[in-house]
Amino acid sequence: MRTLRNISDVQKLIDSHDAIVFLGGAGVSTESGIPDFRGSDGINNKEFPYPAEHYLSHNFFMNRPKAFFEFYQSEILHPDAEPNQCHSYLSELENANKLNAVITQNIDGLHQKAGSKNVLELHGSVHDNYCVRCGKAFSLKEYIDSYPELRCDACGGLIKPDVVLYGEMLPQDVLQKAVEAIEHSDLLIVGGTSLNVAPASELYTFASGKTLLMNKTKTSKDIYFDFAYYGKIAETCDELTI
Ligand code: NAD
Repeated sequence: MRTLRNISDVQKLIDSHDAIVFLGGAGVSTESGIPDFRGSDGINNKEFPYPAEHYLSHNFFMNRPKAFFEFYQSEILHPDAEPNQCHSYLSELENANKLNAVITQNIDGLHQKAGSKNVLELHGSVHDNYCVRCGKAFSLKEYIDSYPELRCDACGGLIKPDVVLYGEMLPQDVLQKAVEAIEHSDLLIVGGTSLNVAPASELYTFASGKTLLMNKTKTSKDIYFDFAYYGKIAETCDELTI
């Protein structure tokens, strides 16, 4: 792995590839005001009676939907967050036919809000909600407004965010598309992720082209990348051109 010290080296790498795929995590949205999990200001560093993973688990949702919603709304939902320069830059790269896909572990919908079209959401989206009984779809606002009942107006079933909770499977079709996109990329950029959450943390192994890690801090997997550039990703993207 070679650490890139100058932004011009990142620029050269991007300029010389045109089948780029970006795989991102919570760090992509911290500069939009959404905390990550494992960063210094992350949710995992906050004091709750139980670890965040407990509240965000399938069992907790099924057994205590109201308490789940209260945690989810106070810690996970940021309906007013706006895309930052990283989201915008990736959208511009796609428009310029240089980027084939954004694969994200994030559930905040900010890539789409920035204009990205081919977004593969490995962990679902807060904007998709559905009745577990009849399947009726609800917007985020409708889910929020259904509190405290949190029930479907058609059949009375529980409304569930279509996000992957701890103890649930990832959508396999999305995972398969992510693998294919990475296999066909000439440059895989992995950014804003601690590379701790499987299977997203292992997807870089499918890359046959170059790989670049862009993160604020080192991860345990940096050595497996061709290049690394350290810094805040939105600030970095703000310095890059198409
Ligand atoms: P993580 O919290 O485990 O790690 C975040 C990583 O991003 C850390 O390595 C941190 O140093 C880095 N980082 C933080 N701010 C950064 C910045 N401005 N620029 C560059 N790097 C930055 O996140 P993860 O690996 O994505 O795993 C957490 C899980 O939690 C994921 O499944 C994700 O779905 C979920 N999550 C999502 C959101 C969201 O949708 N925005 C927010 C929090 C957690």
